[in-house]
Amino acid sequence: MRNQPFHPATLAAQGLGWTDPTTGAVVMPIQPATTYIRDADNQYRRGRNYARADNPGYDQPQALLTALEGGAASLVFASGMAAATTVFRALPLGAHVVAPRIMYHSLRRWIAAYAADGHLAADFVDTTSLDALAAAVVPGRTRLVWVETPANPLWSITDIAGTAEIAHRVGALLAVDSTAASPVLTRPIELGADLVMHSATKYLNGHSDVIAGSLTTARDDEFWQRLVAGRSSGGAILGSLEAYLLLRGMRTLYLRVERACRSAQRIAEALAENPHVAAVLYPGLPSHPGHAAAARQMTGGFGGMLSIRVAGGEAAAIATAARVELWKRATSLGGVESLVEHRASIEGAGTPVPADLLRLSVGIEDPDDLIADLAQALPA
Ligand SMILES: *Cc1c(COP(=O)(O)O)cnc(C)c1O
Repeated sequence: MRNQPFHPATLAAQGLGWTDPTTGAVVMPIQPATTYIRDADNQYRRGRNYARADNPGYDQPQALLTALEGGAASLVFASGMAAATTVFRALPLGAHVVAPRIMYHSLRRWIAAYAADGHLAADFVDTTSLDALAAAVVPGRTRLVWVETPANPLWSITDIAGTAEIAHRVGALLAVDSTAASPVLTRPIELGADLVMHSATKYLNGHSDVIAGSLTTARDDEFWQRLVAGRSSGGAILGSLEAYLLLRGMRTLYLRVERACRSAQRIAEALAENPHVAAVLYPGLPSHPGHAAAARQMTGGFGGMLSIRVAGGEAAAIATAARVELWKRATSLGGVESLVEHRASIEGAGTPVPADLLRLSVGIEDPDDLIADLAQALPA
């Protein structure tokens, strides 16, 4: 008998080893049914009645995520935004939340608008500073500290263990948007987080063909049951085909992330030498302000995301994005194809993102091709 647990990469590759009990198939079937038969004595002994609450196609990706994150339970959602907003909507009216000043922009905007409508009180702080976090939380009032690490699009690093201590001291939950790290590089629950959120659209699925989100909890408690009910009643559910595609993507998660990390490190080092690049923002470079914190809490690499500031300013940055031939000019991240984006253009007026910044999502192509394409595209 085997008494050592399998490594996460093994669990992912085999999707926990599940096979279809009726056919022996090595992949589980897609079940499109919206409704389930009630037993003659009026019970639902098989545990399912309607597919807005639950779908057998969620079982395997949720169980795999729970195993990879080291949590107690997981939920998949129709998008990362659906997963994240379900957490904020589950808080009591008027609760105080602390969130990062630099974070995924659509969620920052949603939190600000939700707070402005009177549902919550929100403070946006520099979460890379534990002192700023400690000053922002209010004992008995702060119910949630939300962080993102590495955070869009400066790839700033928040110390998860230090933040968990600060949140728990005042009775708040810590939720971590771990989209950019993926469970391959960071396991926030082991560092003290209560909830982990992913835009599964990104690394978990990895093929730019599914919008999905997820939450994983450290404990199956009353707040988690509010999130379970919130998905069902809120209705932001993942389709059966998308759940299947998400699992298929997750089976190659480790290969893809390991390759993207290795390439991103090489690309960051090459760009740091390029005279047309004013700064390279990548936690894997010792020059990055979050390098030491990242080295403590990330294992196996610093991620596939980096940004550069182009020496010639905004116009030069946009011109560089126009000249790439291999990199795709598009938003999003975490797919097998490499993407470049002038980030301020998509975030719009009021963005804290520098106008000369290009965000790079490194895919799994040969890194030499990616480096050569950027070299020819940067202003001569
Ligand atoms: C994309 C993204 C989201 C939003 O996820 P969707 O799947 O697009 O709804 C949230 N956080 C981060 C860090 C993201 O990159």
